[in-house]
Order: sequence, then C-alpha cells, then structure tokens
Amino acid sequence: MRILVVEDEHRIASSLKKGLEQEHYVVDVAYDGQTGFDMASEGVFDLLILDLMLPGKDGLTLVKELRAQSIHSPILILTAKGQTQDKVIGLNAGADDYLVKPFSFEELLARVRALSRRPPTVSPETITVSNLTLNQKTFEVRRDDQVINLSKKEFTLLLFLMEHQGKILSKDQIISHVWDYDADVLLNTVEVYIRALRRKIDLPFKQLIPLIKTVRGFGYKIEE
Ligand code: CA
Repeated sequence: MRILVVEDEHRIASSLKKGLEQEHYVVDVAYDGQTGFDMASEGVFDLLILDLMLPGKDGLTLVKELRAQSIHSPILILTAKGQTQDKVIGLNAGADDYLVKPFSFEELLARVRALSRRPPTVSPETITVSNLTLNQKTFEVRRDDQVINLSKKEFTLLLFLMEHQGKILSKDQIISHVWDYDADVLLNTVEVYIRALRRKIDLPFKQLIPLIKTVRGFGYKIEE
C-alpha cells in the first residue's frame, strides 16, 4: 500500500515517512502543494496525507482539484489548532478524515488503517489465500500453520498480491505500488522478488498447490 505525504515541515514529513515505513507502507513525500498535486495526479497512491497550510497550492485546493480529476484515493488532512473551520471545508471538499496537530503517531496510524480498510468480505487484519495467511497488524505470515519470515519488501509485495488475489498484476503495477520514487527499480527486480517469495511460500510446501502464478506476457497473480 503506497502513501503520499504532502507536508512542508520537513521534520514532520520525515518522521511520518519513517514511522509509516516501519509499518510496511510505501511512502513518498512532497514538500509543496504543486509537487504534491503532480505526484497525486498520477493515481498510483492508495492514500494521501495532506497538510492544509502548504506553499504553492494549499491543502484545500489540492483536495478539490484532485477530486475534480477523479482521484478517489482516501485523503487524510492535517490541520493546525485554530483551523477547525478549515477541516469542515476540507471534509466538504472531499477529504475523508482529519487530524489536528500536534497528534500522536498512534493516532495517525489508527486513521490510516481505518481509511485503508479492505472490503467487508476480507477482515482488515488478516488476509487469506488458501492456507496462506498474512496478518497486517502483527506482520506474521503463515502457510500451513508454519511461520514464514519475509523481508520488509517481500512482505509489502506479498500484501499487494494478496489484496488483489485472483487478479493479474503487471510488473509496472507492482513497481508503482510496492516501491517509492527514490527506489531504482527495474522490471527485473520484480522477478527477483517474486522468485524470493516463491522460495519461501511455495517451494517448501511441495505437497500443496503453488499460489504465486506467472501469467506469461502479462504479469503475476496469487490465487488458490
Ligand atoms: Ca504546513
């Protein structure tokens, strides 16, 4: 799951990025409104966190213009104390939730989790494909009741595949949701990570059907 943080205060922006990355989110940061707008318009982010007071283009304008461009990702706005009337305007303009600064990281995380909640058929904490389970809160992955240790990136990739189980995902789609802009990713990198995941979740379970499938010329999918 990929998040864009638009925040001009570098200290806040970098602590949000660090904290969210620890929770296995993929995070990019923009420090002004125009850059934030350009990045968000690409439509690759699953969630946007916008500060209201921004140089270039303010947060409210961003919300309005992104919604007008049919960018439907959930938006969490950050407001300073005393800007409470802005939060109402923000929600009316199409934001989904707001937080008043200063806020605790736990509070932010709770909002982020609530906004990114999966469809009701899937419980928000655990995603399952056959006998493979992934817990988004504890980061535990199990197959056939055996705990599987994954690297951070392998976990993010597996989560992305499992959230879209049954659907074919192209390498480009995988790259744009699993890696941030700073990462130097080649199409080949996706293959390397898919291979690493297979070695951990499919190959050790020879008596079971492999879950990660290659669809030649299109990409990958995970399904029973
Ligand atoms: Ca600001």
